[in-house]
Amino acid sequence: MSEANDCLFCKIIAGDIPSSKVYEDETTYAFKDINPKAKVHVLVVPKKHYANVSELAKDDPAELAHIAEVAQSIANDAYNGSFRLVFNTGLDAGQTVFHVHAHVLTGEKFDE
Ligand code: 5GP
Ligand code: ZN
Repeated sequence: MSEANDCLFCKIIAGDIPSSKVYEDETTYAFKDINPKAKVHVLVVPKKHYANVSELAKDDPAELAHIAEVAQSIANDAYNGSFRLVFNTGLDAGQTVFHVHAHVLTGEKFDE
């Protein structure tokens, strides 16, 4: 798998930085967010490095669809199947790690 220099999530995927794994298959890795914003907050990432969701959609739309399926399966296992799926894209949207990641937020009822 391609590893971008100095990419935090590439290092997590490679096992060079520890993470709390939730799911893994050939193309995809999911782990708990270190600073959870919901009762269950999981990050789902392609093992291959793409900077953001637009690059992923352009270069590997099947992987983007797969990430949505993995998110559903995490929400089914952790809760009742309801979840929020968020891709912060760009600095002004709050993207801090430039390896595309889906935030899966679940485990509770959101009021807004
Ligand atoms: P962004 O702000 O780029 O959309 O999301 C980056 C997310 O990565 C944040 O929610 C942040 O808490 C999480 N994060 C940053 N560093 C680490 C880390 O070393 N381990 C884990 N598990 N999550 C991290
Ligand atoms: Zn990366």
